[in-house]
Amino acid sequence: MLSCKALTELVTDHLERELSIGPRMSVSLHLSSCPDCRAYFGQMKWLVKLLRQMPAEPAPPKVSDKLLLFFRRWHQASKMAARHRTRTLQLLPADRV
Ligand SMILES: [Zn+2]
Repeated sequence: MLSCKALTELVTDHLERELSIGPRMSVSLHLSSCPDCRAYFGQMKWLVKLLRQMPAEPAPPKVSDKLLLFFRRWHQASKMAARHRTRTLQLLPADRV
């Protein structure tokens, strides 16, 4: 049976209906036998419903700027890491690739 910790990691996906049948059945089975997780699930369900009712507002400019800067740094680091991996593979002897 699914542990309580494992269930908490699947709750959001379960609520978003992104789980395949196997994990979904495991979550349902656990919820039917664990009152604590049932309470947690109920709270998360309520929270998701509440958040969906909130109007979507654009992020304040400072937040947008920080997110954009973070994304650019992450993107640059990803490109450099990919280049490094490619270079590393090219430098390795053929029998080690
Ligand atoms: Zn539980």
